[in-house]
Amino acid sequence: MSWQQRIDEALAARRQADALRTRQCVDQGAGRWLIRDGQRYRNFSSNDYLGLSQHPALILAWQQAAEKYGVGSGGSGHVSGYTLAHQQLEAGLADWLGYPRALLFISGFAANQAVIAALGNKDDRIVADRLSHASLLEAANLSPAALRRFAHNDATHLATLLAKPIGGEQLVVTEGVFSMDGDSAPLADIARVTRQANGWLMVDDAHGIGVCGDEGRGSCDVHQITPDILIVTFGKGIGVSGAAVLCSASLANYLTQFARHLIYSTSMPPAQAAAISASLAVIRSEEGAQRRHKLNALIAQFRAGAKAQNLAVTASDSAIQPLIVGENSRTLELAAQLRAHGCWVTAIRPPTVPPGTARLRLTLTAAHEPEDIEQLLEILHDAR
Ligand SMILES: *Cc1c(COP(=O)(O)O)cnc(C)c1O
Repeated sequence: MSWQQRIDEALAARRQADALRTRQCVDQGAGRWLIRDGQRYRNFSSNDYLGLSQHPALILAWQQAAEKYGVGSGGSGHVSGYTLAHQQLEAGLADWLGYPRALLFISGFAANQAVIAALGNKDDRIVADRLSHASLLEAANLSPAALRRFAHNDATHLATLLAKPIGGEQLVVTEGVFSMDGDSAPLADIARVTRQANGWLMVDDAHGIGVCGDEGRGSCDVHQITPDILIVTFGKGIGVSGAAVLCSASLANYLTQFARHLIYSTSMPPAQAAAISASLAVIRSEEGAQRRHKLNALIAQFRAGAKAQNLAVTASDSAIQPLIVGENSRTLELAAQLRAHGCWVTAIRPPTVPPGTARLRLTLTAAHEPEDIEQLLEILHDAR
């Protein structure tokens, strides 16, 4: 089969399964409203959980740092792209989250790839929750280490897999809050089982950081654990973009030698680092606590309303509230119906989620108002 035939067939298969992905160009995609073609929709599909992407203090910090540093970092951090703005952000993250060191990456995807690639050797085993993010599972697949997947959130199954004989080291990988289901991992159990097997634990808290825990410290604070490796990303609750690895001083030094995504890639713009630092300041302040409080009230409002309608809500108490529909076509239909009534939601289909579990992934944010939730519930009610 030629390249062209292969591509055409793959696209045709996606089309046939109602699974072809396309992008919609929007005028504004984060915040309470999604604006497209000049039309305003209530936005239930962004990961800007605290509504910080539009925060004046973050915008000002970005502008001021751009005036000072320019817009590009000029190189990898190993060359000339590591500025005071980067250093201050790393120090602020380490202080906030209680780790000796933080290392910045351009994205969560890159951080996960880099850490797993730098750690795994031939005799090692990576044991990951089977619903882990694509960036984690793909990196583990590419690693010379063996990959085993444990049943979702099942610490007992994890313990069984860890108990199998092994020549090398074991790395356990999971998330704080799962991106497509919105449920939380039993982190205390997972940490205990990992420790008993002398493994290391890596937690990706992309959806928990900033949003839950004391001062927004995330899922690990909620469950009172300190994993060996904590991944935090800045494109969701933090409202900007980028990521960091929190770890010991020696692992940070090791990654500085061996994390290829760090060494061979331009560092984030200094202005971006300054905006993230400004975001941390808001998240740790009284205002941050109020935003989290408001978000939790909206989540409770949605769940109570959805249960009253007998909608198939999941166990999620996070900002991610999936409505599992099942079939791709029905899910797309529902999304279109919601859109026609002014609510922007995303239909998530396999292979992003398991076959037969296509869903509307509704995300609530602190930028919403109670009337937005009411409106959403009403439309869902009528759509049935
Ligand atoms: C979004 C996400 C990532 C990727 O982070 P980016 O900074 O957007 O690349 C990694 N892990 C999880 C669990 C995510 O949800």
